[in-house]
Amino acid sequence: MFEFFNENQVMLASVAKELVEKEIATHAAEWDEKDHCPTELFKVFGQQGMLGVFVPEQYGGAGLGITERSIILEEVARHSAGFAIALMTHDLATAAILNHGTEEMKKTWLPKLCAAEVIGGLSVTEATGGSDLSNQATTIEKNSAGYLLNGRKVFITNSHIANLNIWTGTSGVNEKGRKVLSAILIPPETPGLSAGRKENKLGLRGSITGEVIAKDVQCGPDSIVGKEGKGSAVALHTIGNYGRSGMAAIALGILRASVEEAVKFGNERIIYGNPLSKIPEMQAIIADNQVEYEAATAMLYNATAIYDNGKDAIPKLAAAKYFATEAAVRASRRTMDLMGGYGVINEYPVGRFLRDALANIPSGGTSQIMRVIVAGSLLR
Ligand SMILES: Cc1cc2nc3c(=O)[nH]c(=O)nc-3n(C[C@H](O)[C@H](O)[C@H](O)COP(=O)(O)OP(=O)(O)OC[C@H]3O[C@@H](n4cnc5c(N)ncnc54)[C@H](O)[C@@H]3O)c2cc1C
Repeated sequence: MFEFFNENQVMLASVAKELVEKEIATHAAEWDEKDHCPTELFKVFGQQGMLGVFVPEQYGGAGLGITERSIILEEVARHSAGFAIALMTHDLATAAILNHGTEEMKKTWLPKLCAAEVIGGLSVTEATGGSDLSNQATTIEKNSAGYLLNGRKVFITNSHIANLNIWTGTSGVNEKGRKVLSAILIPPETPGLSAGRKENKLGLRGSITGEVIAKDVQCGPDSIVGKEGKGSAVALHTIGNYGRSGMAAIALGILRASVEEAVKFGNERIIYGNPLSKIPEMQAIIADNQVEYEAATAMLYNATAIYDNGKDAIPKLAAAKYFATEAAVRASRRTMDLMGGYGVINEYPVGRFLRDALANIPSGGTSQIMRVIVAGSLLR
């Protein structure tokens, strides 16, 4: 935990920890093994005020910031990074509506999202490449009834459970002949929207990831999120701030888990008649894990504080996401090394930490793209 959290943030971390230990900790291994997402827990988190904490109270939220959201996600990911990304993505639909939606959308959907009466999803990525955001085959065509949506999205978290979906798609071309995107809100039970293939992932298996297909989905005239033709801005703002702070927070959870498991195993395992943790090389592993956890923590909570104070945090959040997600891979691998042969036995959670850490890296943008953003902010 970050040392400079205020009293309320410390309290929130402790309440979230208690909830996670009660509802998640003992089930996480089974969810991973069975590739199961515990959808019933969305409502539990909603009832505890832990969904959309950054939403103002007038719309059913807690009126806090992405710092508090990251605190909650770190606690969830300490035990289940898989379920954490399901909650994280639900909040992306919330964030897109809060920051870019119409007043009507906010009044209608934010209270329902905060209470998990609906489950949210954000569908941006297509087979033509997640990094190449502007090259979308999905079309959003204006017609007499509003907007007609056709397309196929891939790698979408909550693909088979989300019923409140935000999509991006091409709605025209600009004067240079380049595709222009819009973002659109698809309410529950809109005909023509269906889930396709469900992916069998390496990690983050407490969440569902797959295709979502739109076939002649008719949306009303007031369904554009943000301005028509400004869908890239909606996607980049939502993913850049809420997606990447979320993925970095999930990485913090894995980092902390890697530290705690290394300490526990190191103290319990007896080798040469003494605890393994007496060996200086093994202490170095524990120290390296803790140093990377502390560095990632400082980077993330510095960046979230910048955003919560109303300033541009995109490059700092990209840096935090890059560092934290890569560090989580290094740390879980080190803990595995410390455990010797036990590290590869599935009875222990460290193999899952490593798989989750690897799956974390592309979600919300790859490490290469994070470096492009950081360098771009300096070279502009
Ligand atoms: C578990 C999981 C959950 C996800 N959830 C969602 C979701 O809910 N909604 C959603 O819309 N998407 C989601 N995604 C998709 C994710 O955002 C994309 O996977 C990611 O943006 C990368 O896109 P891609 O997989 O198409 O890789 P590509 O874009 O095809 O990239 C392939 C390789 O090329 C590199 N590359 C690409 N462009 C550049 C460049 N300019 N400079 C240097 N290197 C480059 C990449 O770094 C990568 O190494 C999820 C992905 C995962 C794994």
